[in-house]
Amino acid sequence: MASNCNGNSHHPETFFKIPEIKFTKLFIDGEFVDSVSGKTLETIDPRTGEVITRVAAGGKEDVDLAVKAARQAFDHGPWPRLGGPERARIMLKFADLIEENVEELAALETIDAGKVITFCKMADIPTGAKALRYYAGAADKIHGTVMKLSKGLQGYTLKEPIGVVGHIIPWNFPTVMFFMKTAPALAAGCTMVVKPAEQTPLTALYYAHLAKLAGVPNGVLNIVNGYGETAGAALSAHMDIDKVSFTGSTEVGRKIMAAAAASNLKPVSLELGGKSPLLVFDDVDVNEAANIAFNGMFINKGEICVASSRLFVQEGIYDKFVNKLVEKAKSWVVGDPFDPKVNQGPQVTKEQFERVMSYIEHGKREGASLLTGGKRLGEKGYYIEPTIFTDVKDDMIIAKEEIFGPVLSVMKFKTVEEGIKRANLTSYGLAAGIITKDLNIANTVSRSIRAGIIWINCYAAFDIDCPYGGFKMSGFGRDFGVEALNQYLQIKSVVTPVQNSPWF
Ligand code: NAD
Repeated sequence: MASNCNGNSHHPETFFKIPEIKFTKLFIDGEFVDSVSGKTLETIDPRTGEVITRVAAGGKEDVDLAVKAARQAFDHGPWPRLGGPERARIMLKFADLIEENVEELAALETIDAGKVITFCKMADIPTGAKALRYYAGAADKIHGTVMKLSKGLQGYTLKEPIGVVGHIIPWNFPTVMFFMKTAPALAAGCTMVVKPAEQTPLTALYYAHLAKLAGVPNGVLNIVNGYGETAGAALSAHMDIDKVSFTGSTEVGRKIMAAAAASNLKPVSLELGGKSPLLVFDDVDVNEAANIAFNGMFINKGEICVASSRLFVQEGIYDKFVNKLVEKAKSWVVGDPFDPKVNQGPQVTKEQFERVMSYIEHGKREGASLLTGGKRLGEKGYYIEPTIFTDVKDDMIIAKEEIFGPVLSVMKFKTVEEGIKRANLTSYGLAAGIITKDLNIANTVSRSIRAGIIWINCYAAFDIDCPYGGFKMSGFGRDFGVEALNQYLQIKSVVTPVQNSPWF
């Protein structure tokens, strides 16, 4: 099944290439092992709703074992004690291995998460290798500062790895999230336990295998698949975890912070949800701007935390712009993500599919106009038409809550001031976009919106060198860039008299 809103369809069978599933256990201290309880969890193919395979489901006992291995590797193992160039060499080898296996990894990501294979091959999987290379390049440039102090003293700072890190990640970008977290932590000399999302564990396990092949020492990178309430909660409450780095929902972010506070006061960084505004001004090329707006929303089937889900269009071009969006929706192909012609695969799970459909019903009930889409596609799998609502009011649920699916709310505005005010009417602050040819507008609006990243005349344009994270309830801390590396380092100051004589 693959179709666009005109009903054009492709025959997916020719594109099916089910990858062999080689790794289904937990990865602790360099070995693939069953969970202590013997429990497993199903991972589902969102194209059909059928089980792909079962993977070991870790609980508290498994987290304890993984943390013990990571603690041992941190306190006594080689990784934190290696020089930066040696860690970099292993990370570079790891990156090469990812590239050598890109086809297989992309197929695993596609079948597990319903992401289109062309993107997985071009973007998601290569980003893992790029992140490793970027942070490998930083591994031998970690140094502090020297200070000439008063009273005959000198001081210097050491940047030391923060210790054993717990990474808890979501299902929408399993590979990108994995390396966004682990690559800087590896470069810093940390050891770690990763808990992948229970919906998408397959590529993470493959990466554990590649890390071992590359020479990452045992205990440095451990993977405990499992549910949030069990494995995730055990990790965030663990007394021997020195930092938790989390990406996911705001609701779970609160729980993680509470668990950290109630245990050993470990620092946390939280990358949470968003409801990002994109403002399009009258002076734009309507076709180009509509492309940016459409992709900003519907890329990765709307399962992207920065989705431009609140689209504000200035009144002078509003009608023309909305027509363009409908045109784009009609030629947007939803279907089997293994089909290279497809733009949008199925939502990741039945639960997520139902959640999105219920938001669509909310939108209709609240009085928004359903311009296009709004329906399920096919009888099997979790496919949803690209859905666009107009006549959306700022206080409607579809304009306030993160839907995390292919549902766009379009709103009309008049002035720059009104646009800024309404763009900021959200408890989130992850990202925002501005499309205009006017530098005055671009600079005024970008400085006035409270969000961690602002895209001008582009959208969702990520680069590993550009830090990324939230304002307000979208969290705190930064992934990517040198800022992310610093989150896995802590500063130790050393003070000593300059002269070899008693100080006082
Ligand atoms: P989620 O918060 O339900 O789950 C994320 C991870 O947390 C999963 O691994 C899950 O097992 C784990 N978890 C769940 N309950 C837990 C608990 N009590 N203790 C510890 N861990 C627990 O989020 P989701 O539905 O999987 O992902 C979607 C959300 O992630 C959206 O809100 C989206 O905006 C957000 N997200 C944010 C970013 C960003 O960079 N800011 C990126 C991607 C996704």
